[in-house]
Amino acid sequence: MKFPSDFAFSQNNLQDFVECPRRFELRYLLRQPWPAIQSQPVLEHEQHLRRGEIFHQMVQQHQIGLPVPQISTQAYDQTLLGWWEDYLGSQPQPLPEHRFIEHMLQITHGGYRFIAKYDLIAIQPGEKIIIVDWKTGRRKPPHRVLSRRIQTRLYPFLLWKCSSAFDKTISYSPEQIEMIYWFTADPLSPEHFQYSQKQADLDGEYLLELTRQVEHCAQTVFPLTSQEQQCSLCVYRSLCNRGVAAGSMDDEMDNEVDEDNLDIAFDQIGEIEF
Ligand code: SF4
Repeated sequence: MKFPSDFAFSQNNLQDFVECPRRFELRYLLRQPWPAIQSQPVLEHEQHLRRGEIFHQMVQQHQIGLPVPQISTQAYDQTLLGWWEDYLGSQPQPLPEHRFIEHMLQITHGGYRFIAKYDLIAIQPGEKIIIVDWKTGRRKPPHRVLSRRIQTRLYPFLLWKCSSAFDKTISYSPEQIEMIYWFTADPLSPEHFQYSQKQADLDGEYLLELTRQVEHCAQTVFPLTSQEQQCSLCVYRSLCNRGVAAGSMDDEMDNEVDEDNLDIAFDQIGEIEF
């Protein structure tokens, strides 16, 4: 099995691999079209994704300084308006003023390309870097679940490796990096992850181990997950004979806009490639 020439590891494809190697193969190597809906009810699911997309756009506009009244007109229903008002009233504070929004970074690690798209990076030069990720899932996952997510491990690691891209005269230690998840489902209780050298060492090795596992599967077989509860929310379940009916939105941990269109954006990040 060959990897597409533009392939890069991301939080989405690595999370898919961890949850089900076969899904990783179908989605990212074979680029199999999705034959089934992801969850029920369909319309509500689509509306939720749409709200999440608009909400991220509104926050992005706010972070670059557009006036609030102008942005607020995009809140087309009460749910989105509620998210927006919660954001305005309880964004993580204080954040450093030097900010990068919807920013993409990539590194080569162990001979593999890794890429990440950050909702917000706030930098206090020479002092600290804060990553903020806006989460619009229906539920806030527990801290211990978040700590195991690929995003929580990849994003600070990749940022640390790339941190001199923001100012070549400054190098940052992992201890100067913090990641914050902010939730529309629980806006007053963001989750904070303080990074460390110890965690960076673990994450670097973990990411390499995952690439070794992917390579091994590519030489042999990408197995179907043994965690069959994954399948009810998977769009490939009919291909795998893992059921026909879609699972409920309530079962989804993280109803988020899928950002794995990263593969087409490498030309935008060439100047910060390591
Ligand atoms: S249906 Fe199940 S086994 Fe098949 S790709 Fe999806 S998660 Fe994996």
